[in-house]
Amino acid sequence: MLLTCPNCETVFRIDSDRIAKAGQAVRCSVCSHVWQAEPPMLMPEAEPGEMRSAVGAVLTPFIILVLVLGLVIGGVTQRATITAYVPGLLVLFDKAGLTVRPQTDKLRIVDLKADYAGDTLRLRGRLMNEASVHAHAPALEVTVLSQDGTSLASQVIQPDDRVIHPSKASDFFAQLVLGEGLEPTVTVTMRDDPVAAAPR
Ligand SMILES: [Zn+2]
Repeated sequence: MLLTCPNCETVFRIDSDRIAKAGQAVRCSVCSHVWQAEPPMLMPEAEPGEMRSAVGAVLTPFIILVLVLGLVIGGVTQRATITAYVPGLLVLFDKAGLTVRPQTDKLRIVDLKADYAGDTLRLRGRLMNEASVHAHAPALEVTVLSQDGTSLASQVIQPDDRVIHPSKASDFFAQLVLGEGLEPTVTVTMRDDPVAAAPR
């Protein structure tokens, strides 16, 4: 075994049998420092097999780390879909400063109908999810333009559902008070406002 003098740090090679099991006072031949030496712990020399398992012990956390990193990176890039399934995770992404925005590329506005009741324009339609996974329902911006292109009214509305399941649609409804006798053009666009972590 090797003994290191705690005072001058000289290393001595010594037969471990010469150190009593309970420890023993030894004296450094270089600096005369005396200290209590402990016998080596009962640790067998590492065999080749144990070396492999030691390598495995180092590699396994590394592999797990890589897997976890992969999951984290996947979770970050796919966070809109993941949080559509597990809305509770929105808080975590929010805390991490990772904004979750609805993915609108697979959503389509269908069955858009507008009718007048007096001076009030009533607009209804459905937001269809054409993806194979859940999707956050985006806020919708309803814009009413007159025939010469001036904006008469605009309103941001929320579809009925927060999350739209695959091949399903969420209804939306808007009511805008306009002048009578207009023949306006109504457009509905999907916004990419961040998905709120708290229930709406
Ligand atoms: Zn010494």
